Amino acid sequence: MSSHFFSYREGRLHASDVALEALAAEVGTPFYCYSADALEHGYRFFAEALSGLPATICYALKANSNQAVIRTFAALGAGADVVSEGELRRALAAGVPAQKIVFAGVGKTGNELAAGLDAGIMQFNVESLSELKLLSEVATARGVTAPVALRVNPDVDAGTLEKITTGRADSKFGIDATQARDFLLANREIPGIRVEGLAVHIGSQLTDVAPYRLAFERLIALYKDLRGAGLPLKRLDFGGGIGIDYRHRVPGLDAADRADHAVSQADARVSAYAEMVRGLIEDPKNGVGDAELVFEPGRLLVGNAGMLVTRVIYVKDNGPRRFVIIDAAMNDLIRPSLYEAWHEIIPLRAPAAGTQLRPVDVVGPVCESTDTFAKQRPLPPVGEGDLLAFSSAGAYSFVMASTYNSRPLPPEILVRGGRHALVRARMDYDTMIGQDRLPDWLEAESPEGSDPSAGLARERRGAA
Ligand code: PLP
Repeated sequence: MSSHFFSYREGRLHASDVALEALAAEVGTPFYCYSADALEHGYRFFAEALSGLPATICYALKANSNQAVIRTFAALGAGADVVSEGELRRALAAGVPAQKIVFAGVGKTGNELAAGLDAGIMQFNVESLSELKLLSEVATARGVTAPVALRVNPDVDAGTLEKITTGRADSKFGIDATQARDFLLANREIPGIRVEGLAVHIGSQLTDVAPYRLAFERLIALYKDLRGAGLPLKRLDFGGGIGIDYRHRVPGLDAADRADHAVSQADARVSAYAEMVRGLIEDPKNGVGDAELVFEPGRLLVGNAGMLVTRVIYVKDNGPRRFVIIDAAMNDLIRPSLYEAWHEIIPLRAPAAGTQLRPVDVVGPVCESTDTFAKQRPLPPVGEGDLLAFSSAGAYSFVMASTYNSRPLPPEILVRGGRHALVRARMDYDTMIGQDRLPDWLEAESPEGSDPSAGLARERRGAA
């Protein structure tokens, strides 16, 4: 069962074959670590589950847009799902072929549409008739034709968290299916536009296949209807959203093996999803056997492949409550503060068998009470200086990091087998402060008591 992307070896937590303690000694804490072995496993498993189907897997960069992560998938044949010009540039820079890029997002600007056209991407997932009009204008001005899939809203409740459901009629995403149908039937020729497909994405962190089936059935019915009316559609984009297990409840396994097991649980979910998709595509009644397919998984491929490693700064008892204050904060990993998300907390040193757990609050140093990772979480004894890891921190984690409280962005490390590489260095203070500029009326002023000949102000003046 156990794949050993994460494991205790001689009592030390490892990612692939690398001891996380050694990485902490090298780059300091907090830091993110991703296992390339887990990334590759996740991608291959997904691709194999869909084998035989004409599928392009467009990794959703928003989950984790480090160049090394994107390149890892691109090397296995992945395309990319991007939602901004920045993500488009990241995908191209990492070597994703433009012909495997889909550009989604509810608010693409004219400049972003132009960037996609200039790159020659596979498909724009258009989310409103206004966007279609703008894309038509931009493409016509450039003398090119934009390949388009209309993202329809299938009005399906994904049954996931309120903040990450996207497929209901009352959500801002997609175009109402009836409106899309009527429009396409009434406007068969749109200058600069070639409508090639239909797309859906009903939400993120879905753990049940049923809402997918309903949404895909609705999408396929519309596709069939429009093809029957003579529209030359050829592609179905099923979006992303397959969920992972954040709570690793497996009795009888140690904490590291439970984190590892979560990767296998994702495999089981992928198998059920792929079987459902295959059933729909291969069912002759649906008449979509010849359609090209696009999938946009994000979290599934990276979520359980990453950990955030942190050090305990202080342990303090306030009345009956014990607080473990760590050097990672909500600026590094915002999911618990933002969504009340759960991340397992795993000590880097394996606790002895039979160690008593005690409930503690694990909190960061930021001056917000929401900078709390876990309340009354039963943990083995934790002391000042100890190292802990948050698991399932590969998706929507580093990408949402900020410098709030003027805390520099943490570094990212990729491990593969016994090798490791720093794939993003810790932001240094000069870079962080150096992004600010003084207006000319303050430039000449030096606050009383300051030393104008020293420090960053002078360096910036020199650099400007
Ligand atoms: N595709 C689209 C259009 C999305 O909006 C998202 C996430 O918000 C994804 C794909 C990726 O979702 P996930 O990471 O849950 O697979």
